[in-house]
Amino acid sequence: MKNETLFERAQRVIPGGVNSPVRAFRAVGGTPRFFERASGPHLWDAEGRRYIDYVGSWGPMVLGHTHPAVVSAVQAAAARALSYGAPTAEETLLAERLCELMPSLERVRLVSSGTEATMTAIRLARGFTGRKLIVKFEGCYHGHADALLVKAGSGALTFGHPSSAGVPEETAAQTLVLNYNDADQLRALFEKQGTQIAGVIVEPVAGNMNLVLPAPGFLEGLRELCTQSGALLILDEVMTGFRVALGGAQARYGIRPDLTTLGKVIGGGLPLGALGGRREVMEKLAPLGPVYQAGTLSGNPIAVAAGLATLQLVVQPRLLERIESTARMLTEGLLTEARKAGVTFSSQSIGSMFGIYFRDAPPRSFAEVMQCDREHFNRFFHAMLEQGVYLAPSAYEAGFVSAAHGEAEIDATLAAARAAFAKLR
Ligand SMILES: *Cc1c(COP(=O)(O)O)cnc(C)c1O
Repeated sequence: MKNETLFERAQRVIPGGVNSPVRAFRAVGGTPRFFERASGPHLWDAEGRRYIDYVGSWGPMVLGHTHPAVVSAVQAAAARALSYGAPTAEETLLAERLCELMPSLERVRLVSSGTEATMTAIRLARGFTGRKLIVKFEGCYHGHADALLVKAGSGALTFGHPSSAGVPEETAAQTLVLNYNDADQLRALFEKQGTQIAGVIVEPVAGNMNLVLPAPGFLEGLRELCTQSGALLILDEVMTGFRVALGGAQARYGIRPDLTTLGKVIGGGLPLGALGGRREVMEKLAPLGPVYQAGTLSGNPIAVAAGLATLQLVVQPRLLERIESTARMLTEGLLTEARKAGVTFSSQSIGSMFGIYFRDAPPRSFAEVMQCDREHFNRFFHAMLEQGVYLAPSAYEAGFVSAAHGEAEIDATLAAARAAFAKLR
C-alpha cells in the first residue's frame, strides 16, 4: 500500500488524516509516512521502506522500539486483564519507583496523558493557593488544556491571548506568558502580581520549540520567586523525565519543584501520565481534598506494566550516559558535516534530547528559535527522509536518541546528512 493512498483515504474520515496535527507534515509539506512496524532504532512504512527513527513517538521510546522485555510485560499484563477500574499492586510499585527516582515526589497520581497531568497540576495549584493566575513561558508546550493554550499578549506583562480558537478570552486572561530565560521579566511580574500567582509552569529544558536549554540562574530564579510569593513551581517533565537525567531535569539542575508532571517515558509507549509533588499539596486531591480529578482508565494495568518494565531498564547503570554520548556523537557529527558544506547550522544535545538549528548558534528563546531558516530545515528534512532518516516533521521539535541507536545508525545518519547539507549550498 502506498503512503499517499493511505493518506488520501484517511483524510476522508479523519480531520487532516491524522489524530495529532504535527503528524500531517503540514510544516514541511509532502506525504506523511504510515508506519506498520518498528524495532530498536528502526521504523518500517507501508511501502516497506526502513527509516532510522529520531522521533521516538515524540519521546516515550527511550529504549528503542519493541524492546522484548517491555513487549512481554505488556503481553503478560494483557492476558491477565485489560482494565479493572479498581486498584492494583503494580500502580503502587510504579508510584514507589517514581518517588525513589525523583525525591521531590512525595505522593503521585497516575493519569493517562501528559495533558491530563498538567491540567490537573494547575487546578491543584489554584486549589491549594486559593489564587487564580498561572504563569507560563512562550514556546513551552504543556498539552492542550484551555488554560495552557495561551500565547503572549502584545507588550510585556499583559494578559495572555488564546492560541487556539475555542479557548475563551476570559480563560486565557488568567494565564500570563513570559519570555523563556528572561529572569528580569519574571522578577518584574512577581513584584507587581506575585501574591495573585497560583503557579508557574515551565519545561525545565524546553523541547517543544526545538531544544532550548535553561540559561544559568533561570530555574533557580523561578524557584526563589515562587518560594517568596507562595506560588507553586510546576516543572513539566513530561518530556525531560528520564531523558535529561534519571531524576529528570530537576536532578540535573538541582531544583526542587512543588509539583512535577510526567508522561511519555513513564508509559514506555502506552498512554500514561502522572503528577506528583509535595505531600501537603497532593493531599488536596480528591478523595482526600477538595480538588477533583478522576479517570476511567487511570493507572491502566497494561500501561503500568509497560511503564514499570521501561523504568526497570532505564535505571540500569550507565544506560542514560550511553544514550547521552550517542546523542553527542550525532550532534557533533552534524556540526562537522555542516561546517564542511559551508551551511549555517548549529546543534546541541542534553541527555537523549537534541536540537538542530539552521542558525549560527543554539537559540535561547522562542524569538531566537523563530530566526532559524525554516526553508533550509524543510529541504534538509526531505533530503534525510529520502535517505531513510526520520526526523521530526517540524523545525520546532526536539529530536530523540534511544538506547537502541548505536554507532552504525549514527554513521548512516551522518552520511545522509553529508548529502543533505551538500544540497543546501
Ligand atoms: C508531550 C508533552 C505534553 C503533553 O503530553 P500528552 O501526553 O501529549 O498529552 C505536556 N508537556 C510537555 C512538556 C510535553 O512534551
